[in-house]
Amino acid sequence: MIASRTPPVAGKTGRPERLLIFGSLLSVIAIVCIVTFLLIREHASAQESGTRSAATIAQLIDADVLRTVELYDLTLQGLIATSQRDDLRDLTPQIRHLALFDRSATARFKGDILLLDKLGNVVADSSQLVPKPGNFADRDYFLAHAFNRDVGMFISRPFKTRCDCDEANQWRLSFSRRISSDTGEFVGVAVASLKLDYFDQLFNSLDIGNGSTLNIIDNDGVLLAQKPYLQSDSVGKSFGNRPNVVRILNDRSGNGSFTSTSSMDYQQRLYTYSRVGNLPLTVIVALSSDEVFAAWRRTAILISGATGVLCLGLLWLTWLLVRELRLRHRAEHELAQLAATDALTGVANRRMLDQSLRHEWFRAQRSGKPLSVMMIDADHFKAFNDRHGHQAGDRALRELAKVITANVRRPTDLVARYGGEEFSVILAETDSAGAQQIAEHIRVAVEQLPLVAGAESPMTVSIGIASWTTASEMTLEQLLFAADKALYQAKEGGRNRVVVAA
Ligand code: GH3
Ligand code: MG
Ligand code: MG
Repeated sequence: MIASRTPPVAGKTGRPERLLIFGSLLSVIAIVCIVTFLLIREHASAQESGTRSAATIAQLIDADVLRTVELYDLTLQGLIATSQRDDLRDLTPQIRHLALFDRSATARFKGDILLLDKLGNVVADSSQLVPKPGNFADRDYFLAHAFNRDVGMFISRPFKTRCDCDEANQWRLSFSRRISSDTGEFVGVAVASLKLDYFDQLFNSLDIGNGSTLNIIDNDGVLLAQKPYLQSDSVGKSFGNRPNVVRILNDRSGNGSFTSTSSMDYQQRLYTYSRVGNLPLTVIVALSSDEVFAAWRRTAILISGATGVLCLGLLWLTWLLVRELRLRHRAEHELAQLAATDALTGVANRRMLDQSLRHEWFRAQRSGKPLSVMMIDADHFKAFNDRHGHQAGDRALRELAKVITANVRRPTDLVARYGGEEFSVILAETDSAGAQQIAEHIRVAVEQLPLVAGAESPMTVSIGIASWTTASEMTLEQLLFAADKALYQAKEGGRNRVVVAA
């Protein structure tokens, strides 16, 4: 067994392995970061293109509604201008009706166009030559104009028709303007209604894909139309307290987009909204998130899967490589140990002894601390071999190596087989007195080894010691020679003894 200075124990992770693990972990993190960044960017671009197509749909609806409302306004303004002409009273009812209501009054979604006096009574009706008696003084638009001269064109809340005609219970919206006298007094209201079917027909002409909705609401959040209807009877209902609607109505710019969950069917949608001109109407295009991000989701699953496989592959290869490196280091370490070990006894061999001697010698020179060398030789070993055979001789040499190693305890000390039945011990930072003490212990311990079968006397050793101190002026060769000489003296002196070089 080598008492000191062996290479680091194998099995621990070395520097190259650590670098390899660190490098591949860094690569995996970098790959994951890059892929995540790209996927986030792709998600944003999918959202952007969804918002763009929703905005285009909203603009189409905006333009149509604006044009329709403009036509209504022109009709109302024409009606008011004609109704204020004095020469109208002299005409026959037929001609007066023709003058008041042009052909546009029969447009597809137009309901009745009425002239109301200042008490709310119907004085002219586009659908009948002689208007049916009726009073609309309770309607929101009548009250709005009666009490405020600056309302301009007023758009009512949606309402259901009151008549007991075919169109009873139909949802409508009315556009109205105030009729004022020359002095600005309130004299009546011109009002035209629009069937809300108009919005349904407009929405039906647009393809928005599955799970998406088109909506139009007024400034109070009252729903005018929806495609497809998520709930029955939702037209005319106020959704002004729903979080998404609150968010849209609170946006002063009137345009924008966000992703949120619908409070009606709990589906996630990309909401894009646009105020119609400066009218109190807002178009909301809510595209299904599933539709908008479908392509992105497919790509994300594919890329994430491929990245996962790549990263796992990389980590697996790293693990294989680290394992191989570890095995190689262990083999190298074992080889190095074999190259430094004596095969018979397991202590350091001559090569290791020479190396360590030089190393300790220079260390002692630098530190100025003493260095001792011990030469141990088995006594009459030739005779032992002759008597008990070489096998027993080998066993005795192994026992001897064990005894020497057991008595040399400091990690900087080294026990080596010098050759044959001779051993050397290097004792760093040990003076001759210390070395002598250790040598004496070894000598006694060998003497006390159990007798080999058939032997009359125990095995003994002779030990020669030489020490270097700062006071002694000698070279390494002189130190070794002195130890040899001391050993020779021990033999000469009768063997089984320790001699310290003078
Ligand atoms: P001395 O007390 O003067 O040292 O006498 P010695 O017989 O021990 O010395 P010598 O140098 O004459 O003999 C050394 C013997 O050691 C020779 C050989 O038989 C034995 N020997 C050397 N190497 C080995 C070995 O590896 N195995 C065995 N079994 N014997 C060895
Ligand atoms: Mg010898
Ligand atoms: Mg001998």
